[in-house]
Amino acid sequence: MGRYIGSVCRLCRREGNKLFLKGSRCYTEKCAIERRNYSPGQHGQARPRISEYQVQLREKQKLKRIYGLLERQFRGYFEKAVRRKGITGENLLQLLERRLDNIVYRMGFCSSRKEARQMVNHGHFLVNGRKVDVASFLVKSNDVIELKPASRKLVQIQTTLTSAEGRGISPWLELDKAHFKGRVKAIPTKEELAMPVNEQLVVELYSR
Ligand code: SF4
Repeated sequence: MGRYIGSVCRLCRREGNKLFLKGSRCYTEKCAIERRNYSPGQHGQARPRISEYQVQLREKQKLKRIYGLLERQFRGYFEKAVRRKGITGENLLQLLERRLDNIVYRMGFCSSRKEARQMVNHGHFLVNGRKVDVASFLVKSNDVIELKPASRKLVQIQTTLTSAEGRGISPWLELDKAHFKGRVKAIPTKEELAMPVNEQLVVELYSR
């Protein structure tokens, strides 16, 4: 199955949650969820009965869409989470959160995870001084993520860093905006992440 190329706002409306897929627009009143918070399509405003399976499925789809992953990739993270010690749901959230494209987005270098993935793939970032162009690269605590010196002049980055200040930086990250550099202070706990997802339902879905 290929990558989804339709309207991303439709995905948010389908999940009934802001998934922040469209960059700066998500933080304005133009956001589709602010204007039409019901499912897309002809029967979007109907209230069908939802089975337990559908509830679990929606939670999985929501989490998968937040990080912009395909089913196979997402399943891979789940299997990795199962193999790790600890609570599977929390392991899953942490693995997803450690992706380099996500960290770059969280630090404010990019306005969405999709843009962050593209910037990482184009080799604009260094991790601990070495170029990493793999968006799924898993960062560890104390890793330093830095914009490549040649990329610092990009007007797009400067504008995004300034506008990202408004949305704030996560407490487990630190950013030195003047030097285009950030550090992962620690791997976040589930409570710190405060994702709008019940990850336990995702675990239940895959454990059926
Ligand atoms: Fe989702 Fe952003 Fe579109 Fe709002 S603007 S519906 S948060 S993608």
